Amino acid sequence: MHFLAAATAWVEQQQTVISAQGRRLSHAEQALAEAVGVAQPQNVYVLEVPVITRPDNAELAAICDQFGFLTEDTIGLTLGYGIYIKQGYLTSRLLSHELRHVHQYEQAGSAQAFLSRYITEVMQFGYLDAPYEIDARSQERESLL
Ligand SMILES: [Zn+2]
Repeated sequence: MHFLAAATAWVEQQQTVISAQGRRLSHAEQALAEAVGVAQPQNVYVLEVPVITRPDNAELAAICDQFGFLTEDTIGLTLGYGIYIKQGYLTSRLLSHELRHVHQYEQAGSAQAFLSRYITEVMQFGYLDAPYEIDARSQERESLL
């Protein structure tokens, strides 16, 4: 997967933006994070934005197009310990889903390891049927604990 390095660099760059401009989880949100398996909830940052933007990199943007990933309908995106939420869409359900992706990142051990598996799954099964997405949906909670 020749674009993996570019994808990893983009994720790491976005993580920096989210930690610089975002907020940490509240205590209740940290409890939710622990409930869905996050080992280090205190490391998580959330940044609410009007639009979750695609990578500038033309090749990465084309891959997003091809797989219907990161469209104008995207309301949440997790990049390591950084979570983008589209303004007006923050719910316990969405946050628990994204926090489960943080857990997956932690389990994978690095952004590159997570992305390698995630991208492979999306290419093989499609976005909705990717095992990482099925797992995240299975951990969605309707309310804070
Ligand atoms: Zn997801």
